[in-house]
Amino acid sequence: MNKIAFFGLGYVGLTTAVAMASRGFKVIGYDVDKAKVASLKAGKLTVYEPGLSETFKEALKNIRFTSEANEAVNEADTIFITVGTPSKPDGSIDLSNVIFASRQIGEGLDGYKLVVVKSTVLPGTTMGVVRREIESASNKKCCRDFGLAVNPEFLREGSALEDTLKPDRIIIGEADKASGDQLEELWRGFLNGYEVPIVRTTPENAELIKYANNAFLAIKVTFANMFARLCMKIPGADIDTVMKGIGLDKRIGPYFLNAGMSWGGSCFPKDLKAIVKFAQEKGVRLGLVEEALRINSKGPEDVVQIAESLIGSLKAKVVCVLGVTFKPDTDDVRESPSFYLVDELKARGAKVKCYDPKASAFPSGCEINKSPKECINGSDLVILVTEWNEFKYLNPEDFLSMKSPVVIDTRRILNKRAFEEKGIKLVQLGVGV
Ligand code: NAD
Repeated sequence: MNKIAFFGLGYVGLTTAVAMASRGFKVIGYDVDKAKVASLKAGKLTVYEPGLSETFKEALKNIRFTSEANEAVNEADTIFITVGTPSKPDGSIDLSNVIFASRQIGEGLDGYKLVVVKSTVLPGTTMGVVRREIESASNKKCCRDFGLAVNPEFLREGSALEDTLKPDRIIIGEADKASGDQLEELWRGFLNGYEVPIVRTTPENAELIKYANNAFLAIKVTFANMFARLCMKIPGADIDTVMKGIGLDKRIGPYFLNAGMSWGGSCFPKDLKAIVKFAQEKGVRLGLVEEALRINSKGPEDVVQIAESLIGSLKAKVVCVLGVTFKPDTDDVRESPSFYLVDELKARGAKVKCYDPKASAFPSGCEINKSPKECINGSDLVILVTEWNEFKYLNPEDFLSMKSPVVIDTRRILNKRAFEEKGIKLVQLGVGV
């Protein structure tokens, strides 16, 4: 049986490590962040994902954690690189974690192992810098002394464990057949009869599939967000019905059409910027992707304009922002649109209060509240941004503690009629007024 190492224990590395350990694989997790490793060793999870803590407990007998890179390399047959690949200030990809991890793996290589790049990297990275770093640090040759493959990850935060246990497909970009065979066998063992397409291809295709996938999804949500703005100008129109109508067309499909203020998170913004920059360097303009980024960045400003149309100048007004994570069921706030919204509100002189049930951090300069009711209380305006389940149960009565209740529901989860019956002004993003 394979023993598997993970270099990087963030949302992807930790979830995949726990999922594999829960299915009986022996797993060793390594991270440069010593505090993270100490916490995991103590049995305390470092990310919030539904179901992960229960599965973690079941998986404990098969998983261990270390702060020693060599130990992880020596013990494993297959080593997954799951480190972060953030943006540089100019939007290009920052590969420093990938390069460092590759070098560490190279330095530890003590026999034939398969190295798998699961981090999102641009086409050419695996067969270029990753291979070079491992070869030069180990003095060994790719495809002879060690195997190499790309295995992009498609899990969604908020359902990361479920997505890992039941993926839509497995993409394998292989440096050579032996590497592809070893990785396919590992995944088939993990899936244990659960049938999904396994696509074997070149490393470059596998790398590009990940970017094309994220660009397409981001464009699809942007499309819904754009039409939501139009719906608001058409009395009788609502975006959910319009998107349901088009989603029934098999060529379009129903997913990723749930309009909101804008998208965020640790992947879409950085991956779209990285592929745009990469294409520019190749002399190709990804105009559609650039436009999705532009439209998306305007989302918070659009909502602030709606706010001003409802209550006038925001100067000295108290605004309650419900939800600061970039989506529900995660604690991740990376590139969360709520943070940009808070900045826009503060720039107009508003005093901002925030509530979120799980956020790992809050925007600076805002008052942090412990419950939605505390946040709503005494404010001039409430803006509901993240569709946390608990917000669906807010009643009109919960808003009567506002000075003169006005609510913007960017996710259309509150019952408009019930609010209006109580004399509360409720504007829903994407619903014609
Ligand atoms: P993350 O920031 O949550 O975690 C990355 C981890 O890697 C951190 O714990 C960091 O300390 C560690 N690390 C950095 N350098 C290291 C090294 N040399 N050795 C060992 N550990 C190291 O990142 P994430 O969200 O898990 O994403 C990881 C990769 O997967 C990224 O490339 C991302 O684009 C991609 N991805 C993420 C998601 C997602 O939803 N988060 C989905 C699909 C793909």
